[in-house]
Amino acid sequence: MDLGREEFDWDRMRQEEDDYFAVKKAAPKTMETTLKGVLSRMSARAGGEDDPIVAKLRSLPYSEYLATEHWRKTRERALNRDGFQCRICASRKALEVHHLTYERRGEELPTDLITLCGPCHKAQHDRKA
Ligand SMILES: [Zn+2]
Ligand SMILES: [Zn+2]
Repeated sequence: MDLGREEFDWDRMRQEEDDYFAVKKAAPKTMETTLKGVLSRMSARAGGEDDPIVAKLRSLPYSEYLATEHWRKTRERALNRDGFQCRICASRKALEVHHLTYERRGEELPTDLITLCGPCHKAQHDRKA
């Protein structure tokens, strides 16, 4: 486990989320199947499939995952922790919770998530391009 990281691993986070967005953009119809590949690679790296609830959460397409009660609560916790402010520019508008890593999808640690406003979130995803 990689706890106590001082700096956010932006490169890795971007790579993982870009995988998702690239697949979505390139092939919306086959997105679900391709995504399963991406996500199973992610979870294979992390281990932790022994928990059936976590395994179920990880098996969901990302869009469905975002609609789960688990994610709603996890997201709310991150927003609360960050004081309902973007961690980059302190905006309080259009807040989104961004995954710094998907390694623990379904059982995220607080340090896996960061609150960003829409524009800052987009900038993180665009940085690679
Ligand atoms: Zn911002
Ligand atoms: Zn994001």
